[in-house]
Amino acid sequence: MSTREIVLSPEVLAQALNTAHPQHAASLKALQMSASHGLCALIPTGCADCLNHLLESSGADAPGLLKLADLPLKISWMATLCPDDPESWIAQPGVWRHQVLAALQQTGSEARLLTRDSHFLKHEPAALTPEDFCNSLATESHPPVPLEFIDLKAQQDRLRPALERRVAKVLRHGRYILGPEVAELEKALAAFTGVSQAIGFSNGTDALLAALMALDVGPGDAVLTTSFSFFATAETIAQVGAVPVFLDICADTWNLDPNTLETAIERFRQNSPGLCLRGLVTVDLFGQPCDYERILPILEKAQLWLLQDGAQAFGALWQGSRVPTQGLIGCTSFFPAKPLGAYGDAGAVFTEDAALADKLRSIRVHGQSGDDKYNNLRIGLNARIDTLQAAILLEKLAIYEEEISLRGEVACAYFGDLMDLNEQAGETILRLPTILPGTTSVWAQFVIEVPHRDQVQAALRADGIPTAVYYGKPMHLLEAMRPFGGKPGDCPKAEAAARRVLALPFHPYLSAEDRRRIVNSLRRALLNP
Ligand SMILES: *Cc1c(COP(=O)(O)O)cnc(C)c1O
Repeated sequence: MSTREIVLSPEVLAQALNTAHPQHAASLKALQMSASHGLCALIPTGCADCLNHLLESSGADAPGLLKLADLPLKISWMATLCPDDPESWIAQPGVWRHQVLAALQQTGSEARLLTRDSHFLKHEPAALTPEDFCNSLATESHPPVPLEFIDLKAQQDRLRPALERRVAKVLRHGRYILGPEVAELEKALAAFTGVSQAIGFSNGTDALLAALMALDVGPGDAVLTTSFSFFATAETIAQVGAVPVFLDICADTWNLDPNTLETAIERFRQNSPGLCLRGLVTVDLFGQPCDYERILPILEKAQLWLLQDGAQAFGALWQGSRVPTQGLIGCTSFFPAKPLGAYGDAGAVFTEDAALADKLRSIRVHGQSGDDKYNNLRIGLNARIDTLQAAILLEKLAIYEEEISLRGEVACAYFGDLMDLNEQAGETILRLPTILPGTTSVWAQFVIEVPHRDQVQAALRADGIPTAVYYGKPMHLLEAMRPFGGKPGDCPKAEAAARRVLALPFHPYLSAEDRRRIVNSLRRALLNP
């Protein structure tokens, strides 16, 4: 069984809850076995009436009834599911059957239906009794469920009713473009970061592009940035016609090295008199803020602005303030796999500068004027955040602070598991991330450095453990950046990191059991290569 979900018919749930029912033990056992195989049980909310009726009519006395929370299995309630043909259920008995079938349709072809209903058992190929289900789990071979690199499902199971309510509300009011959820999200984002202006964008890349446009960066300009980041950081600088100037990183944090910044600025101004150096785009890589304590004074002295690419570090703390609020403008991405992710593309821009915020809002909608939408003031973009994505993000933002803590706990546990291999006795077997004092990471990725990365990655893959490499090539060496003249040796620390970094599976709901599986496989690969 490769599915991770089962649909529970209400009579099976009623039996599992009712200790007096003759089939209680068998039904409960099926739920226990589902849980131990990592499955999640779905039940349509539309079956609640039927469930209540079964519990009442079974004559069970209240003390014999278990609570849902007593069940060993995680139950996820699904929204009420309407059939295509309402005539088929109005005034008919067994409406709950439609709900169960509609739930089954949503879960894909491999999901099974746990039921004792004779109609289902006769007509529905996915249906099986709790006893048959237990037998199949016990006898068929079930390869371990492959680990997810980032498991977005676990969070969705937790938030499903709230997400479904939010989405349904948008479908009902129909204001898909800049609907009320966008303003509500912008307010919540501003409150979360403590900054006065938060503006939703279509994605993190458009957010960066709009920020550069708002800063009037264009041909004849140059912008400093790190060489070790996702392509969009430098791509957007080139998109507006400016020249990206790549700087090296610190070997231990993988973030821009402040030591190189001052000399880089002086050298650039001496050697490139035809270009105007405008500012610096920092990246808070893998979730950790850069060393702004040293970066900010250097920029101030050189009269350069800071644009922050906080796509991986939204909400991380630097000296008590949230990323990305350390610069003149900060950007983030809500790409699904980022620490705070939507169910599609989305992003945001943050600033304390009200005039820049007005300009950004105008750029977001074709350079429109605030008063007259057919009076375009400037060349802009079509880069609004979707109302639907804003609605989803509102529910996810509500638990984000707690998820940041969970991320910290998972990272801490990884540290505990791997600490003994970290640069022990002069011999480096692996290198764990370094977090600067005064900062916290939101752990967009849990990245380590290993020797012989390809072999380690292959060994983990053979054990069903996915890993990823961020980034295999520093940006100054990418083909697309060739016009800017980067060559090997320009950023030696970024080039060395690119050969050794390896991201392990990571998400706030990573279980201790899965983490042990990852760590054991990694230790085998490193210690007995
Ligand atoms: C993801 C990411 C982006 C781009 O964000 P999108 O929402 O995918 O456009 C930009 N910069 C960095 C550092 C990123 O990690």
